[in-house]
Amino acid sequence: MTKQSIYGLTIDQLTEWLLEHGQKKFRATQVWEWLYQKRVTSFSEMTNINKDCLQLLEEHFDIETLNIQIKQESKDGTVKLLSQLQDGNLIETVLMRQKYGLSVCVTTQVGCNIGCSFCASGILRKNRDLVSGEIVEQIMKVQQHLDEAGNGERVSHIVVMGIGEPFDNFDNLVNFLKIVNNPKGLAIGARHITVSTSGLAPKIYEFADLDLQVNLAISLHAPNNELRTQIMKINRAYPLEKLMPAIDYYLEKTNRRITFEYILLNDVNDHKEEALQLAKLLKDKRHLAYVNLIPYNPVSEHIQYKRSTKESILTFYDTLKKNGINCVVRQEHGTDIDAACGQLRSKQLKKAN
Ligand code: SAH
Ligand code: SF4
Repeated sequence: MTKQSIYGLTIDQLTEWLLEHGQKKFRATQVWEWLYQKRVTSFSEMTNINKDCLQLLEEHFDIETLNIQIKQESKDGTVKLLSQLQDGNLIETVLMRQKYGLSVCVTTQVGCNIGCSFCASGILRKNRDLVSGEIVEQIMKVQQHLDEAGNGERVSHIVVMGIGEPFDNFDNLVNFLKIVNNPKGLAIGARHITVSTSGLAPKIYEFADLDLQVNLAISLHAPNNELRTQIMKINRAYPLEKLMPAIDYYLEKTNRRITFEYILLNDVNDHKEEALQLAKLLKDKRHLAYVNLIPYNPVSEHIQYKRSTKESILTFYDTLKKNGINCVVRQEHGTDIDAACGQLRSKQLKKAN
């Protein structure tokens, strides 16, 4: 029987578990200190915890469930980890150095069922959801990598933009967010965490109701249904007339800024016409909308798409700006090490087959 990952429990869940197993409540805080402040990787290192309790924990939980297979470091300081899960599946985690801090991009599922036509993660269908412990442990692995370097650096930001659709693994996602956000643990501020979704409208309502203060990003990629369905088949289930009201609800409920991601695909969605349509679509919410224009990262399986030219990117950007829409062109990280999520994994899988 494989044991449960200890990183998957919120401090309340751990407290409850310890009480149920005849242990003292304060042990939960001690265990968390060892895990998240001292960042040990075995129970035997938890020296202030009595033998009985350690034995009990060891019988039921694992600390390490991820096995790093490849660690790539790019010239710009981006670090990419390819980890093997206990069942043999592979996942990716990326550390990016930003002006504002150190940001980690985590994977939430093995593969993705949404199957967007431009994405490396959607090529293979979803094999399974990650449990929350596996998502938390990705952050721990990166933090431990930083600890080893000895410069006192801390992961300060998280983006849930790796392989998988986070809203298709909602409960594990929410548990993960609570664990990394807890001040007794990694204490990563909710405002420093961003969850990106392809637009599962019902989950956007649920997410808004949770009132977590976590940022939300929507992978929009097209300003009209015809084009959006062509590149993202999820738009059939949740077309713009379902997605936009969910976003309006989120904005009304949280009054938080929302990011719209838009990958620029050469001659597909990058014409001035689409920029104008996008500006119109976002007009009524432009005080809270922020468009992230993403240069396409070519995926060898999707040869039909090419990166937009510099000129079209600029024209698109200018058109949005002129129409009062806040936007930036996303800075790229680690292009020399298969930076787009899913690329390293898909390369490894191809080698294996
Ligand atoms: N499933 C979620 C989160 C993971 S994808 C979502 O779709 O939002 C995270 C972001 O990476 C999305 O905006 C996605 O559209 C983008 N992305 C996927 N493949 C890409 C590629 N080849 N080049 C650039 N961005 C890509
Ligand atoms: Fe899945 Fe996001 Fe990739 Fe679409 S872009 S296939 S939703 S990971």
